[in-house]
Amino acid sequence: MKQYDCLIVGTGPAGLGAAFHLSDMRPDLSILLIDKSNMSTGGLRNDCKMNFSYPIGFPLEYWEREIAETMISQVSKYLKAQILGKHNISTYQRRAQKLGVELLEIKQSHLGTDGGHILIGKLIKNIRSRGVSIFLREIMEDINEHEHIIITDKQKLSYRKLIIAPGRKGFSFLQKIMDKLGIAYVDNLVDIGIRVETRVEHYPIVRDYYDPKFLFPDKVRTFCTNSNQAYVVKEKYHAKSGKDYFTLNGHAFSEKRNGNGLVNFAFLKTVGFTSPLASGQDYAEMLGQMVMLMGGDKPLMQRVGDFRLGKRSTTDSFSGDLYDFEPTLKGCTTGDISLAMPAKIMRDIWKSMKLLDTIIPGVMHPSTIMYCPEIKLYANKPRFLDSSFQAKKDIYLAGDGAGTSRGIIAAWASGIRAAEGILRDI
Ligand SMILES: Cc1cc2nc3c(=O)[nH]c(=O)nc-3n(C[C@H](O)[C@H](O)[C@H](O)COP(=O)(O)OP(=O)(O)OC[C@H]3O[C@@H](n4cnc5c(N)ncnc54)[C@H](O)[C@@H]3O)c2cc1C
Repeated sequence: MKQYDCLIVGTGPAGLGAAFHLSDMRPDLSILLIDKSNMSTGGLRNDCKMNFSYPIGFPLEYWEREIAETMISQVSKYLKAQILGKHNISTYQRRAQKLGVELLEIKQSHLGTDGGHILIGKLIKNIRSRGVSIFLREIMEDINEHEHIIITDKQKLSYRKLIIAPGRKGFSFLQKIMDKLGIAYVDNLVDIGIRVETRVEHYPIVRDYYDPKFLFPDKVRTFCTNSNQAYVVKEKYHAKSGKDYFTLNGHAFSEKRNGNGLVNFAFLKTVGFTSPLASGQDYAEMLGQMVMLMGGDKPLMQRVGDFRLGKRSTTDSFSGDLYDFEPTLKGCTTGDISLAMPAKIMRDIWKSMKLLDTIIPGVMHPSTIMYCPEIKLYANKPRFLDSSFQAKKDIYLAGDGAGTSRGIIAAWASGIRAAEGILRDI
């Protein structure tokens, strides 16, 4: 069995960030990246909008401004992103301020799903040319920390240093590994909300600012805006109960393609739990399954016009009106999302939607579709041994799955930070 100086699980931005930094600083090291997928998953592959401003994507408990900003400039060297222009921001900000809402001004780039695939191809080619090995379609299943071995679905692999960066979808897997290694963690936060889809003319700010980040009272925010040729998509999650549930997301293609005239984005509310309910994931799973129960194993959708009148949307009422557009997500059930969403969450989101509609009139048009549920697990927050995200001797946890990031750029930066810890030690 070959021993690698550094074995990295996950070819998302966290894994790639670590691999590039290690191979830059120590080309002599043997490095192996493995991924269960045939291509890096997550945001690099979907929409690929990158936010180059602190604190977007950087959890404050791990990242001070100065460190994050130094990292952002390092990450920019690899990603060579073109920053998008923005217009009329101070006008939007003034309107928002009057209502107690904040509009963050972020340096952004947008490659689109097609552009993201091209970028991944280039990054993988580049990292291979440095002599880094990559095994795709190989799943890490278990670990033997005493022998410095991980067990995959294909073989055993030996490491001196290990970085595990399995992303948000690797949430349960990472919990299993941390339980086995005796790494303490908390999982008490979750973002719950809806994804909204409307015509661009009802949310024209996207012509001035690709992904506008509004912060509303009560911990509600807009998140992940996609426009031009934009689609709502569903992601399948497997709950501990053994049942599957869907949560929503969105993506868009690059500006090169003709647009469908639609925009989608999420309204999310951050919910924090204290004892005795400590697990954000458990709560999210219950909620996800509740929606599946209501929607016949599909997410729910409702027009704003129906929601406002307190009536469910039906297939008949959903289409055929002058103002309608077809939902881009097929395989969704028309219904009443307020039957599935806890009142406290829905009330705060509805209030935020009204505020947004006052800042940018149009988003509450009766034809706007509200899809439910959009859930973002906040990840497990492990107890780290040092600032390089070492959680157990020689084992580092990076990226979104370990709660050290919440976006492409911060995930890449967290990989660099883990790599720096390894370089100091190896
Ligand atoms: C649909 C979608 C759209 C998004 N859009 C954006 C966006 O536009 N901008 C943005 O900043 N962020 C976006 N995000 C969030 C972004 O994807 C994450 O912040 C970022 O990818 C986190 O990087 P990561 O390396 O931690 O994890 P990931 O990018 O999720 O990578 C983890 C990798 O680990 C692999 N893996 C998991 N478990 C195992 C295992 N047991 N064995 C082997 N391999 C494993 C996975 O296959 C995956 O390739 C989006 C996320 C999704 C799901």
